[in-house]
Amino acid sequence: MNIRIGNGYDIHRLVEGRALILGGVEIPHSLGLLGHSDADVLTHAIMDAMLGALSLGDIGHYFPPSELKWAGANSLTLLEQVARLIESQGWQIGNIDSTIVAERPKLKPHLKSMRDRLAQTLSLKPEQIGIKATTNEKLGPVGREEGICAYAVVLLFNSE
Ligand code: MG
Repeated sequence: MNIRIGNGYDIHRLVEGRALILGGVEIPHSLGLLGHSDADVLTHAIMDAMLGALSLGDIGHYFPPSELKWAGANSLTLLEQVARLIESQGWQIGNIDSTIVAERPKLKPHLKSMRDRLAQTLSLKPEQIGIKATTNEKLGPVGREEGICAYAVVLLFNSE
């Protein structure tokens, strides 16, 4: 059995007047993430990890911000497309592990919903997806609540 591993990272700026969407779940907060799409950093980090595992580039290559059609895009729709791409090459996801770094709001109450959303989108069992949340201990731009970032690692296998 062949296995591959990939890692992904993303960060978006927090601004007023935008919805905060993480793992496909809208989280009540006074600020939201700025971006061309819905700026879902967690889903973006996971997509980059999936693509990176197969040396297929990054999400900017497939969904360039210069293209109008991705404006306000639901990142779960993009995730589905990336999943189809890796499946078309014979690969399946073994598991995903991820960390969201955000000073506020408290994300713990939303982690299960995010996991369920992502599992549903990727046709995985929720147990195959790890999502952790931590703060940056008030350090740096994330600590000053200027943005939220996420890290992801994905293991792919090919049983052929
Ligand atoms: Mg992004």
